[in-house]
Amino acid sequence: MPDSVLEPSRRTPVIAHPDVLVVGGGAAGLAAAVAAARSGAHTLLIERHGFLGGTLSAVTLGTLCGGYRVEGEGGRVHALVGGFYAHLVAALRAQGATLPPRRWLRNVSVPYDPIALREQADRLTAAAGVRVLLHCLLTSVQVDGDRVACAFVEHKGGRAAIRPKMVIDTTGDADLCARAGAGFDIGDDGSTQFASTMVRLGGVDIERFLSITRAQRLERLEQAAADGHALPRTSAGLQVHPGTGVVHANITRIREPDGSSPDLLDPWSLSAAEAEGRRQASLYEHVLREYMPGFEHARLVDMGAQLGVRESRLVHGDRQLTEAAVRGCLKPADTIACCAWPMEQHGKGSGTTWDWLPAGDWYGIPYGCLTVRGFDNLLVAGRNLSAEHVAQSSARVAATCMAMGEAAGTAAALAATTGCRAREVDVAGLRATLANAGALLQPGEPALAGAGVDWVEG
Ligand SMILES: Cc1cc2nc3c(=O)[nH]c(=O)nc-3n(C[C@H](O)[C@H](O)[C@H](O)COP(=O)(O)OP(=O)(O)OC[C@H]3O[C@@H](n4cnc5c(N)ncnc54)[C@H](O)[C@@H]3O)c2cc1C
Repeated sequence: MPDSVLEPSRRTPVIAHPDVLVVGGGAAGLAAAVAAARSGAHTLLIERHGFLGGTLSAVTLGTLCGGYRVEGEGGRVHALVGGFYAHLVAALRAQGATLPPRRWLRNVSVPYDPIALREQADRLTAAAGVRVLLHCLLTSVQVDGDRVACAFVEHKGGRAAIRPKMVIDTTGDADLCARAGAGFDIGDDGSTQFASTMVRLGGVDIERFLSITRAQRLERLEQAAADGHALPRTSAGLQVHPGTGVVHANITRIREPDGSSPDLLDPWSLSAAEAEGRRQASLYEHVLREYMPGFEHARLVDMGAQLGVRESRLVHGDRQLTEAAVRGCLKPADTIACCAWPMEQHGKGSGTTWDWLPAGDWYGIPYGCLTVRGFDNLLVAGRNLSAEHVAQSSARVAATCMAMGEAAGTAAALAATTGCRAREVDVAGLRATLANAGALLQPGEPALAGAGVDWVEG
């Protein structure tokens, strides 16, 4: 038997009794907390970092994806996600912290400033009346029958307990569900999408950079690889960001020497992966300077506070989003979020595969993908939803995570108010409430033009 210790039992102070406890303040958690508070629930959001935003701010992204659907290359563009996502983008835009949406083939997405997003997250949660506890790590839970009775957190001052009516796990890694004993898969039988350390480079001559096409950028990196630079990835996402001469680079790829994905739930593997991400960031900085027009004097000016994890635990919900449902663009009657993003696989090799949905079409995520099998007061939202590995590679983008979070927060507030189980929430009523708050659940709106939604190619 491996070495272990038996910890002594102890008495822990209860510091809050919220109607709705949201654990994890990323895209899904932010939307969930704001929606729950807006629906009248006393809402507490806990977050392990000192700021909100999760992957959006702690990792940083090139663009916010998933907000639109596109009828085909060169075809019309339609809004696909409204509600909290639209409010956040509008707030960022008003602050001058976005660029016009960028269009690439059948994708349209919004470049944003990840530092401004932290501030907007503070503002939006405060305006909705969400209580926020930062630097609080969820460590364990107490389960009573089919309910999560208590969540335990560690903070600088020690340990505390929270007794919620309803709980939403938006940790991205389903930390709470795992500790509660809920079932989950890890990617595809343990094999997950590769993680990436994300960086921003400053001092880029943007005009020179934009003078070559995306295909030519790929050729430059493939040339660098052919010249002997050991690049783990040549399919770079290089996005011009708000600011002068700033480009966001989604370019690194963290894998084991045998090409497999590391177990990022293991602290030794995660520590090694963080160091490898920094090594690769420096390698790409030098390669970009040498091979990419406009980057001659560029240097790293920002690096995510943590490695970007695309996929880990996928919770077993009452329903599961399947690859077949995504490919078939199924639109169940209990759809609570809509998605048109392709199945974007960061898997084996140095490339990225884009498996597109039929032009202009979309699929619906059913409410049952958010209710956790075997639990009455527990929901999930975001990248740890109940989904098959390939389906998650589409549903995990930011706007879709926010749409799921908004639905989970609204549902949790309804359940807390009426005393019903999470899976018993009246989904027709939930959809009506979401639609009143601006969510798009029957996206057939006319094509967008003007009013800040003009896009540029690139
Ligand atoms: C490298 C990379 C590139 C990507 N590129 C894009 C892109 O360009 N556009 C796009 O739209 N999407 C992109 N995505 C996908 C998208 O950003 C994420 O899937 C999405 O933001 C996930 O949101 P989430 O809220 O589900 O999880 P997260 O963003 O992971 O949020 C989880 C939150 O929970 C907190 N947390 C975790 N565990 C605990 C705990 N135990 N206690 C307390 N708090 C905890 C975390 O600190 C975090 O704030 C990318 C993802 C990665 C990793």
